[in-house]
Amino acid sequence: MSLPKVLERIDKACRRASRDPQAVRLVAVTKEHPVAEIRERVLRYGRFPLGESRIQEALSKMDELVAEWHFIGPLQRNKARFAVRFELIHSIDSVRLAETVARKAMENGKVQRVLLELNLGREPQKHGFLEEELPEALAQIRAMEGLRVDGLMTVAPYTEDPETVRPIFAQLSRLADLYRLPERSMGMSGDFEVAVEEGATLVRVGRAIFEPDT
Ligand SMILES: *Cc1c(COP(=O)(O)O)cnc(C)c1O
Repeated sequence: MSLPKVLERIDKACRRASRDPQAVRLVAVTKEHPVAEIRERVLRYGRFPLGESRIQEALSKMDELVAEWHFIGPLQRNKARFAVRFELIHSIDSVRLAETVARKAMENGKVQRVLLELNLGREPQKHGFLEEELPEALAQIRAMEGLRVDGLMTVAPYTEDPETVRPIFAQLSRLADLYRLPERSMGMSGDFEVAVEEGATLVRVGRAIFEPDT
């Protein structure tokens, strides 16, 4: 595919769901791609937020490229001081991590925007809160000075048929509504259209932008 093709598909998915395309932002996932390629395949089309999943790799790109950087991968507490350089952290998956990020944000005199990651597929290998852990965790994290919880994020189980994960996306939207959280970060190359139909406000797409044939 290509970035314009992804945008076109987001647009069509919005139409099908009677949603305003302006309410969906494409986060271009740039992990494993060098800066020159990011310019060529993403930034020539506009100033899209860029998503990275490893701190070390992200930091070197951030030195070279001014952009709205999002952190989307598993975050270790000892890297929190770097994570507060991102505009939005999608992957807060424990109260302890939130505490550490909040502390680093305050040391930097900023309010860090974050999303809480949910493991709605209940996969043991995946990160994120279980649904039943959310109310308590959200209450604790929302009370932390230095953080602003803007929404929820999930990585759906891997599937060949994106229809099978539609209920997961619907559930994330339902929870975001319930807790009055505006952002829903869901949908990747294989399933972003279904995620948009189910209410995604941020889709995280890598392969479909960078691999010509997906
Ligand atoms: C890599 C990654 C993506 C993008 O996945 P693609 O299949 O390349 O679109 C989205 N979210 C997270 C958390 C990722 O690590």
